[in-house]
Amino acid sequence: MAEGGSIEELQEKVSFRIGGGFRRRKIDVDDITVSDFYNPWNFYHLFMQEDSFVVKWCIRNGLLPNEIPCISKVSNQESSSKCHGIMKFCKMSGRSTGFTLRCNRNRNHECASRKYSFFEKSKLTIQDIMVFIKTYLEANTLYQCSRQSGIHYQSTGVDWGSFIRELFKEHFHTHVLTRKLKGVIEIDESLFGRRIKHHRGNPRKGCKIWVFGMVERESNSIILYPVRERSQKTLLPLIERHVEKGSTMERLLPFK
Ligand SMILES: [Zn+2]
Repeated sequence: MAEGGSIEELQEKVSFRIGGGFRRRKIDVDDITVSDFYNPWNFYHLFMQEDSFVVKWCIRNGLLPNEIPCISKVSNQESSSKCHGIMKFCKMSGRSTGFTLRCNRNRNHECASRKYSFFEKSKLTIQDIMVFIKTYLEANTLYQCSRQSGIHYQSTGVDWGSFIRELFKEHFHTHVLTRKLKGVIEIDESLFGRRIKHHRGNPRKGCKIWVFGMVERESNSIILYPVRERSQKTLLPLIERHVEKGSTMERLLPFK
């Protein structure tokens, strides 16, 4: 076997590149994780399961809480204080979702099973919301996302579009903006935009933008920034933000 791991690993990489494929779907629904959603058969196979299975999957993947501290207050004759119980996930037929969070100290303390989750306050099914998110991530229009998921296009679809963008923003601030590259880092920049050939046309016309990039050689992970100019003053803060101290920098051209 050539370098680069076993045949299974190689197949995994190849199937990832190809994307879907009915034959490449995962047969055992218990094995499906978020990273398998590139194949739509995995996605629909999972979300076609019974509600209780889908909900448990969401809990396992951190999308729904399994338990939270009790939010109810206990009042006796003199004062009121917090209940120190734990609310745990359980089935309940009366609820629209079929599930609830119930306190282990007092059975009357109860709250919605979607409390503190991305699905909180929504009456839509988790399945419809997931289809909406999937379609959105595939760079479709809001209209297409709404059609695919059956979510009403106007106010509801627009709201869910903005909730997803909020998530992107949060992800960007907590993961991308603070991401550090280490080891050997290649840095370079490129000019994107309108070009003129054979001295025809006005070179000052049209949009042009410099893109500065850093690549961690070992993992191939890349960070790109559009920059106004390529001066040391602009690029050094970006390098300081994203490159771990002690890393080796490789660059084809010197700074301007
Ligand atoms: Zn309680």
